[in-house]
Amino acid sequence: MSGFPRELFIDGKFVTGAGKRTAQIDPATEETFCEVEAASAVDVDRAVSSAQRAFESTWRDRAPGKRADVLFKIAHSIRQHAEAIAQLESRNIGKPISDARDEVALGARIFEFYAGAVTKFGGQVIPVARGGLDFTLRQPMGVVAAIVPWNFPFPIGCWKAAPALAAGNCVVLKPAGQSPLSALMLGQVAAEAGLPPGVLQVVPGSGSEAGDTLVRHPLVRKISFTGSTEVGKRIMELAARDLKRVSLELGGKSPNIVFADADLELAAASSPMSVFANTGQDCCARSRVFVERSAFDRFVEKFIGATKDLRVGEPSNEATQLGPLVSAIQRNASEEFITESKRAGRRLALGGNRPQPRGYFLEPTVLLDVEPGDRVWREEVFGPVVCIRPFDNEEQMLREVNASPYGLSGSIWTNDLKRALRVARRVESGVLSINSHASVHVEAPFGGFKQSGLGRDLGMAALEGYTELKNVYIAD
Ligand code: NAD
Repeated sequence: MSGFPRELFIDGKFVTGAGKRTAQIDPATEETFCEVEAASAVDVDRAVSSAQRAFESTWRDRAPGKRADVLFKIAHSIRQHAEAIAQLESRNIGKPISDARDEVALGARIFEFYAGAVTKFGGQVIPVARGGLDFTLRQPMGVVAAIVPWNFPFPIGCWKAAPALAAGNCVVLKPAGQSPLSALMLGQVAAEAGLPPGVLQVVPGSGSEAGDTLVRHPLVRKISFTGSTEVGKRIMELAARDLKRVSLELGGKSPNIVFADADLELAAASSPMSVFANTGQDCCARSRVFVERSAFDRFVEKFIGATKDLRVGEPSNEATQLGPLVSAIQRNASEEFITESKRAGRRLALGGNRPQPRGYFLEPTVLLDVEPGDRVWREEVFGPVVCIRPFDNEEQMLREVNASPYGLSGSIWTNDLKRALRVARRVESGVLSINSHASVHVEAPFGGFKQSGLGRDLGMAALEGYTELKNVYIAD
């Protein structure tokens, strides 16, 4: 694994920056396996200026069908390099290789979706009272800063870049310091596919320098951010100074609600991966499980049985379902939640240990008897820790579900259709699944209520979010 980019991707080329580098640590071995250029404020300014030039000189005025042609080619190029991108992603963040392959394929489908969508996305003709012809245009904004986290770097990078580019914007993509490699590969494949220089820039670097410079940059018109609620709030405050557009996909503490009349076998068999997939580092993780009391013991027994069957191990192994956490910091933070819960007398029903001495591994962990005031019940763990609590009454359960400041996703398990719809309407979340845990569909809007975010990724909603709406009136 030697031939992969490690420099900044600016103006269609890989270039060295001001000289800072970030060590990339393989979370499965704890060893540094490469160093990657980290963009300074000057580098970011260069990237934004180049993006602005590309916007004015080529991309803004390129016909939608011509933009679509390039996006289809990027999808094709992603598929051609899919195995290399998946291997890099797996090594960079410890993601099981089978998941990494699925996520790269998802990235390609996202480019295809927006390549097809952009020629079906238009304005309206409005019958204004004074007569004449009134119509709306969807216009690109200019330079979009896409700031993404380390947990799903490739698909999130794609689901921000593809609709923004399709709509005619130029994009500066900033991956997280821990996960720059697949984003740099995206720059490379986009250039190979014929995307003009400057239309997509990739600037790995720290949040405090590269990220902050992007957020404050006067030429950036929109910030599309996915990450923690804390950083999201800071970005919104800074963006308010010159009214930059923002979309924020933030943290979550999503509920998994299981009624006694549900298909308990299916609910219990599928629920462990709804929280432990990606080793719990998933904004949609169903980390608060609410089970109707009459089914509680049966559900917990089956849930624990299914969790024991999960294969924790080396990310490069085809059979692995759960790899290590991304870093020592991330594992320590998860372990603190477990220690605190044990100290408070909560029941550790499974896991809680490091399964092997090397790598940032942590067993999937099940906690029972937690209280609504416990930190582990209220806060996002972002690690393989789940809490399961019984409930007696639907109203009371919904009050507890909605007591969270977050509202990203959730699941409802019942065979009573009326109840499913009633509860789905009441849960304060942007994304819900009934008798399923699927949260992300390329074609459907994805995003949160309350402190889980603002605006929507994916679906046609994302295209709207990367355009300004202009009204034009022509007199008779
Ligand atoms: P983070 O907020 O620390 O970082 C996210 C990105 O923001 C990184 O690229 C980082 O370098 C950058 N950043 C950090 N400080 C910044 C600043 N001051 N200005 C500008 N950019 C800055 O989050 P993380 O630890 O990388 O990711 C985990 C978080 O992301 C979790 O809370 C998780 O729930 C959330 N997340 C949300 C979604 C979603 O769609 N809602 C998806 C994935 C992850």
